[in-house]
Amino acid sequence: MMTDIEIAQSAKMKPIYEVAEGLGISEEYIEPYGKYKAKLSDGLMDSLQDHPDGKLILVTAINPTPAGEGKTTISVGLGEAMQQIGKKAVIALREPSLGPVFGIKGGAAGGGYAQVVPMEDINLHFTGDMHAITAANNLLCAVIDNHLQQGNELGIDQRRILFKRCMDMNDRALRFVTVGLGGKVNGIPREDGFQITVASEIMAILCLASDIHDLKKRLGNILVAYTYDNRPVFARDLGVHGAMAALMKDAVKPNLVQTLENTPAIMHGGPFANIAHGCNSVKATKLALKLGDYVVTEAGFGSDLGAEKFLDIKCRYAGLKPNCIVIVATIRALKYNGGVAKADLAEENVEALKLGVKNLQVHVQNMQKYGVPVVVAINRFFTDTDAEIQVLSDCCDALGCDFALAEVFAKGGLGGTELAEKVVAACEKPSDFHVLYDHELPIKEKVGTIAKEIYRADGVVYTAAAEKEIAEIEKLGLDRLPVCIAKTQYSLSDDQTKLGAPTGFDITVRNVKVSAGAGFIVVYTGNIMTMPGLPKAPAALKIDIDETGEIVGLF
Ligand code: ADP
Ligand code: MG
Repeated sequence: MMTDIEIAQSAKMKPIYEVAEGLGISEEYIEPYGKYKAKLSDGLMDSLQDHPDGKLILVTAINPTPAGEGKTTISVGLGEAMQQIGKKAVIALREPSLGPVFGIKGGAAGGGYAQVVPMEDINLHFTGDMHAITAANNLLCAVIDNHLQQGNELGIDQRRILFKRCMDMNDRALRFVTVGLGGKVNGIPREDGFQITVASEIMAILCLASDIHDLKKRLGNILVAYTYDNRPVFARDLGVHGAMAALMKDAVKPNLVQTLENTPAIMHGGPFANIAHGCNSVKATKLALKLGDYVVTEAGFGSDLGAEKFLDIKCRYAGLKPNCIVIVATIRALKYNGGVAKADLAEENVEALKLGVKNLQVHVQNMQKYGVPVVVAINRFFTDTDAEIQVLSDCCDALGCDFALAEVFAKGGLGGTELAEKVVAACEKPSDFHVLYDHELPIKEKVGTIAKEIYRADGVVYTAAAEKEIAEIEKLGLDRLPVCIAKTQYSLSDDQTKLGAPTGFDITVRNVKVSAGAGFIVVYTGNIMTMPGLPKAPAALKIDIDETGEIVGLF
């Protein structure tokens, strides 16, 4: 069997101009980055204002295993399958972060015969958006520390600086650091820390901004610190948001690439779904809707995290109305939810699967609450047995939802035509999309609604620290924003060991932080890492460049 990268490297890519031409994009709007990648100019959206919007399909999933369950693979395969059945499809995805690429998970360009290419470019730097975000983030940090050094006119309390440095790498040693050591000329000593770039507020801002001007305004609204007399300090008070926006002038432009079957794919932005809102940029999605009749997009982790935020944050802000939600389930993830250890997932286990399908049930019912038709896609692994597939099919029948077996990993678009037909049919069904809560409600009511309706918790417990932060945010008048709950992806609850469909638990909120620039309130449950660490044998050990200059070992 060929590996993902071997399949990707044998692809017959079209020059990016031809991919663009297929979408009716004229050359003047293409900014090529090599032969197979391009940024799409700002003028393109303006030129398409009169085009009707296509149908929006969100791909989400059940609670995943640590390996990822194939949302990107299914999204890419579904786009390819749409093309196979004669539909004009555009795929809108997130850009990979180097952290997961070199860590446990590997790349984020799909898998098997459902990949976006050039896979190694996309996974390694791509068009440099992550670096631009990192630079903008760290410019703000440098200016904060310089402000302290140059006399601290604003009176910033160096113990209450909220904004952290970032880097697009898994590096646990940078979670807590001390900066400014070495005496007077080397800065004011203080405790600081790093986040991974995709967890930074700048990434969330890039993804929610409608254009570069909106981006600049949002950058200015970032709450960076409090003063000694407890007043908020925003990025605009430091006068640096203009320079930050300048660093991001190209990063705000969506990137065009293609799948192995030359289906156009727009990849742009990549916020984490546990700590940030977990979906690609508003600009990219809106552009894709103007360019295609069907737009397939993905939201990170399970539907309790990524899809909830896609619907309640992104769709709310951007005025998007999804026409269909696809929930990806794999037999191995459901067995994991039924209590099977990661190492044993390849073995048939019908009993564990029967326990684990309860997880799928909750995700389907949750998504139905948003008033959008749901289709379950079963991402087929070669280890799946007929007896196991039968259990899943019975479960979907009982839920009254459509389902299809997808073999896009093994067969590309032709392995997903049944899914594509069902999704097209679902898009014709009446859809009455609505968000789950009113963002004008108090913070605790919003959190309570998500905890009860989506996580199925009995209630929410707040630590003293969280209570204090909420009071602070209310005092600033910044509490009327949607909430972005940071939670483990492995469980519907905030305890990653509670698999399946847990009941009889409370959610504990440990901390609350306003991302005033992005426009949401981050609510932390459990111990959520905003800077992941590397495993004992990171994927980086297998990645290499061979004597012919080819990249090997990416997956
Ligand atoms: P997600 O988007 O849910 O995180 P991905 O689509 O990135 O998941 O897939 C995670 C990993 O699983 C990738 O390495 C991919 O190649 C692999 N994978 C996905 N679907 C299959 C399948 N049907 N059979 C074997 N491997 C698969
Ligand atoms: Mg993915």
